[in-house]
Amino acid sequence: MEKLLISSPWAEVEPLFNQKREVVKEAGLWGLALPEAYGGQGLTLAEFGRVSEVLGRTPGGHYVFGCQAPDMGNMELLVHAGTEAQRERFLQPLARGEVRSCFAMTEPEHAGSNPTWMSTTAAREGNEYVINGHKWFITAAEGAAFAVVMAVTDPDAESRHARASQIIVPLDTPGFHIERNISVMGEAHGGWNSHAEVWFEDVRVPVENLIGEEGKGFALAQLRLGPGRIHHCMRWIGICERAFDIMCSRAARREVAPGRHLGGQGMVQAWIAESRAEINAARLMVLETAHKIDNEGIYAARDEISLIKFFAAEVLMRVLDRALQTLGGLGMSDDTPIAYWYRHERASRIYDGPDEVHKMSVARRILRRYQ
Ligand SMILES: Cc1cc2nc3c(=O)[nH]c(=O)nc-3n(C[C@H](O)[C@H](O)[C@H](O)COP(=O)(O)OP(=O)(O)OC[C@H]3O[C@@H](n4cnc5c(N)ncnc54)[C@H](O)[C@@H]3O)c2cc1C
Repeated sequence: MEKLLISSPWAEVEPLFNQKREVVKEAGLWGLALPEAYGGQGLTLAEFGRVSEVLGRTPGGHYVFGCQAPDMGNMELLVHAGTEAQRERFLQPLARGEVRSCFAMTEPEHAGSNPTWMSTTAAREGNEYVINGHKWFITAAEGAAFAVVMAVTDPDAESRHARASQIIVPLDTPGFHIERNISVMGEAHGGWNSHAEVWFEDVRVPVENLIGEEGKGFALAQLRLGPGRIHHCMRWIGICERAFDIMCSRAARREVAPGRHLGGQGMVQAWIAESRAEINAARLMVLETAHKIDNEGIYAARDEISLIKFFAAEVLMRVLDRALQTLGGLGMSDDTPIAYWYRHERASRIYDGPDEVHKMSVARRILRRYQ
């Protein structure tokens, strides 16, 4: 049984991952989804989706290949909407894997499901923004060089979609501090694996750190989260495939009585057949969405993005649950990666929009076409 490196404290994990990153770079496989101008391979989203599935089979696979969340989303954002100076200062070192970053949107005081509702403000004073606010669940904040922060720049804007902006905040700026790393499903290992509660208190950054235009924060969040959801979904399908392999090999070999294998039980056979069908369906849906984004852009694929986000997350949890049940007590242990994924990936149904919000918004859009 493998040792689950990813479940160890980040200080122990990081040097080993960094060694593996050098191997990836030497092999010319670094930064697969980034444009060649930033040292990447320039894969389309559909191409990267296939790679993402393979990397997803291993916890930490995306990190080792330099395409992990939340950095990948921030890189895509800066490629599409950053200024030349922002790309030079923030994107280039991120793309080379020299620094890490985070994305700070969710606040304890407001429903994160409603991304237009927040208290964090960025008030313009001369050539600076002064940022004040409280955020939580900020993945990878500990040790990150900078955050992309969603903050209200125009509280009086008529459209609630035009109130917030995205601003880059170097995390060594005075006034930023981490209150704690939140324990998530019993783990708070720090570093890239952390989910922090943070404060911005009179944090001053130059106006040059604004990404895109003022008031476009919501639109940029959609731009950032669309491809990000494909990355997550394909990673989940990789996890499903690995869990499926572990489930099937256990079912085929584990004797429940002399000469009688677990895989001979009709209930287990149903889990295997249902899992196979659901994984295949999820993969096709995700790849279709990736093709649509590649060919028609992110806004044309809004329905498909919502559909895959909840569908693939639910498939993931069902497959993991069946695999765990098939393994019995072994499934509860950390002797296989199933229990880690069962804990870690439960968040898939919550982050980047809970299932219920995606279902509601896609159903509303569909119904509008029938009115
Ligand atoms: C592991 C993890 C990592 C995260 N990383 C980040 C990060 O890096 N940066 C960041 O900014 N945020 C991050 N988040 C926060 C995440 O995006 C939010 O948790 C998510 O948007 C939901 O917001 P909330 O927690 O405030 O839940 P709420 O908005 O309070 O919603 C709670 C529940 O209510 C239901 N619900 C809400 N709205 C509706 C509705 N309209 N219709 C029906 N049901 C509804 C849903 O079931 C939802 O799960 C992370 C969260 C987790 C768990």
